[in-house]
Amino acid sequence: MDTPARGPGVYLHIPFCARRCDYCAFTTFTGRQEAIPAYLDAVLQEWAARRAELGGERPATVYVGGGTPSLVPAAALARVIAALDPAPGAEVTVECNPESTTPGLLAALRRAGVTRVSLGVQSIAPHVLAGLGRAHHAGALEAAVEAIGATGFPTYNVDLIYGGAGERDGDLVASLEAVLALDPAPPHISAYALTVEAGTPLARTPERHPDDDVQARRYALCDEILEGAGLEWYEVSNWARPTHECRHNRNYWGQGNYVGLGCAAHSHRDGVRSWNIAHLDRYIAAVSATGAACAGAERLDGPTQARERLELGLRTRDGVPARAFAPADLATLTAAGLLRHVGGRVVLTRRGRLLANEVACRLADPAPAGLAS
Ligand code: SF4
Repeated sequence: MDTPARGPGVYLHIPFCARRCDYCAFTTFTGRQEAIPAYLDAVLQEWAARRAELGGERPATVYVGGGTPSLVPAAALARVIAALDPAPGAEVTVECNPESTTPGLLAALRRAGVTRVSLGVQSIAPHVLAGLGRAHHAGALEAAVEAIGATGFPTYNVDLIYGGAGERDGDLVASLEAVLALDPAPPHISAYALTVEAGTPLARTPERHPDDDVQARRYALCDEILEGAGLEWYEVSNWARPTHECRHNRNYWGQGNYVGLGCAAHSHRDGVRSWNIAHLDRYIAAVSATGAACAGAERLDGPTQARERLELGLRTRDGVPARAFAPADLATLTAAGLLRHVGGRVVLTRRGRLLANEVACRLADPAPAGLAS
């Protein structure tokens, strides 16, 4: 691989899906593909107006997410990615659904400089996918992965979700084993606990809601099987082989700067967080009129930034300085098997990762200065 570029990132949101999954609360629209050309024009206009926010740097990472980016015609997607002008050695990721990932799309993306495909697989069990209200990708996964390998992508990711209605431990194990047996095998896997988001069809059907104890067991299964296959956790929900960690997400977790393009996209620059208009048509109209579509912004004060740095760091393999906890809390959390000590830092154990939010509540006030580093 090229020497990794370091610096700011760009997130591009593609808010189009063929159908909406029952658990999904993302900003995405179905039956609106006719708006794709106008939307991409607006994105390019927004980028032209905002690229100066990177302070003259080219993007070190680009992440095209959604929604379903692979619904966008290959040539159009390639044109937008090229316009983002990633730096040499940049990590450029595009999220794809297996069923819309064709050899033609992959070839166009690779020519456009895409280095990483992220496949939304979620499960290989048809009944689990049905429980998630998600289309089955029968046979499409193997074909998509074979094409990813044949096209020469240096890396790719598979997304899984555990805890769907009707899923048994064995279904999750079968999904993990099937994914690990893909050729080429994924060097990166994200496995997320299904969460119930307000306003979704899943929220309205309590009998499909996941159970906390079951989720904890499923997380432990993921970690055991993935670690056993040589993928190491580096964030609570992310495992990778060495050098295949997602640099774009690490920039988020390290409070780096990034520009978010498209409706509902969030941005961060030197402690100022901002977000775009979420509605598709209003986003397009705002950009057409003014070149921008910012819906709001907030400046994080120093203590808030320091607190977030600790909370984000705690969720990663890097952990936080041991002194981020009061001595009595540190002793209690360590004795409970939730933290382990690595030099002067502490890192969540597997058990600690299951209770990451509770452990984070015990973080000390980040003042005095320097505690969060
Ligand atoms: S494919 Fe992804 S973005 Fe689209 S509805 Fe399903 S979960 Fe949401």
